[in-house]
Amino acid sequence: MSKKRVLLVGPLSEEHAGIENFGIPPLGVHRIAAYLRDWGHDVDIYDCNISLPFDEIYKEKNFDVIGISLLNEPLGQSLQFIRKLRELYPKAKIIAGGIEASLNYQFILDHSPVDAVCLAEGEEVMHLICNGEFPLGVIEGLVVKNYANPITNDKLWDYWNKVDFSKLGYREYWKYTKKIRGGKENHLSEPLVRLVTSSHCLRNCTYCSTRLWHLQACGSKVPVAYLSAEQIDILLTRIKKQLPETKQIYFVDDNFIVTRRRIYNLVPILKKHSFHYRVQTSTNMLTEDIVKNLAEVGTFHITCGVENASAYVRDSLNKHQDEQKIEDIIRWCVSSKIIPYYLIILFTPKTRIEDLWTNYTKLNQWITKGAMVSIEPLERIYRGAIDYENRTYDMEYRLVDGIRQPFIFLPESSEVRAIMRRFKKEWPEYQKKKAEEKGVEHFYKGQTGKWMIELLGDILRDTE
Ligand code: SF4
Repeated sequence: MSKKRVLLVGPLSEEHAGIENFGIPPLGVHRIAAYLRDWGHDVDIYDCNISLPFDEIYKEKNFDVIGISLLNEPLGQSLQFIRKLRELYPKAKIIAGGIEASLNYQFILDHSPVDAVCLAEGEEVMHLICNGEFPLGVIEGLVVKNYANPITNDKLWDYWNKVDFSKLGYREYWKYTKKIRGGKENHLSEPLVRLVTSSHCLRNCTYCSTRLWHLQACGSKVPVAYLSAEQIDILLTRIKKQLPETKQIYFVDDNFIVTRRRIYNLVPILKKHSFHYRVQTSTNMLTEDIVKNLAEVGTFHITCGVENASAYVRDSLNKHQDEQKIEDIIRWCVSSKIIPYYLIILFTPKTRIEDLWTNYTKLNQWITKGAMVSIEPLERIYRGAIDYENRTYDMEYRLVDGIRQPFIFLPESSEVRAIMRRFKKEWPEYQKKKAEEKGVEHFYKGQTGKWMIELLGDILRDTE
């Protein structure tokens, strides 16, 4: 075992605040130092209360292993300090420890470049790390951030290329879908296979966790991987062979038009297979010509995450879109006999009363013009979403297996919040009544969207 250069950092605090508040050295850190020295390692301790400024002592030094003890109060300061350590010592193993690190390890791993978090006493763990015989992942008592290799086009193809579509249970799903659609076979109930032909999305919508997924998993921004038109051709051929009853393909990528070139390469392929198609894509990527081409190959439905009928709300969600284009897409789709299917979130943190009215008015207009609207009334909270990470908005909680967990974001406006609460309370009964009126037992979001707008209108008028 070679001797290692180790730096142990005591809990950070405002200058000398530790002395004023506790008046003792960081005992845990000193105990680990004594243990490691006993194994022959060269250990420095940085105690911010009594050491000289860090840069003066350590900037020119080098370390193999760094341990930093975290406390709850100076957590932000500690995370910044860890980033600085990573810059200064890019090759060192950085381990966070202490009760705060142990009980809050996902936060620490997500928000700092530490290699691992030590869960309990640090002596043996740090000794094994210094020993260097074992990879971090096998040392007991460590939670390790083991970055994934970025997905690539080749890997994505390799994974899809191994799928046997006859073994996914589709026939069971189809039976059930047909049953809940009243036994009729139409575009909503015909045998459908979903395909996701790209890996992830790089946009920054504030409510969406997808944006952080690969960044956190791989430690850096990962370009979107996607299948080529030729590879999609192979998959469609295979679906036909393995599930010959398939009538419809739904491309449920975050943005199916990853590149316009791919969509034009795909056009003859989609036509050749003569399925019915649905696609999900962003309004920014659609053009009139693409809509026409998609219609010609049998596309009857295009889903777009418009998210809100108010430009102010869309901008607040980082979902900037051209207002005119949202309208144009409805026109292009309708004239090509495609259903434009718009996804909407109704009550977001920045929603104002006038935005609710805008939604009520515009969504009704869009429906009249031929759009179908699917509404998610509340902005749900997903770990990794900008809105969650920033914690700038009030949240409502729910119990998950008895544990209080953030559930939805609350609108900042107290009037909107009151309307949201009333909407939430009245919706189940309203939906039931509507379903009875229409004589339907099962409804899909394209239907309930319209009903939600009606209920919103009733409440808005009532509270005027
Ligand atoms: S909401 Fe859609 S477009 Fe926005 S980041 Fe998520 S996947 Fe991408």
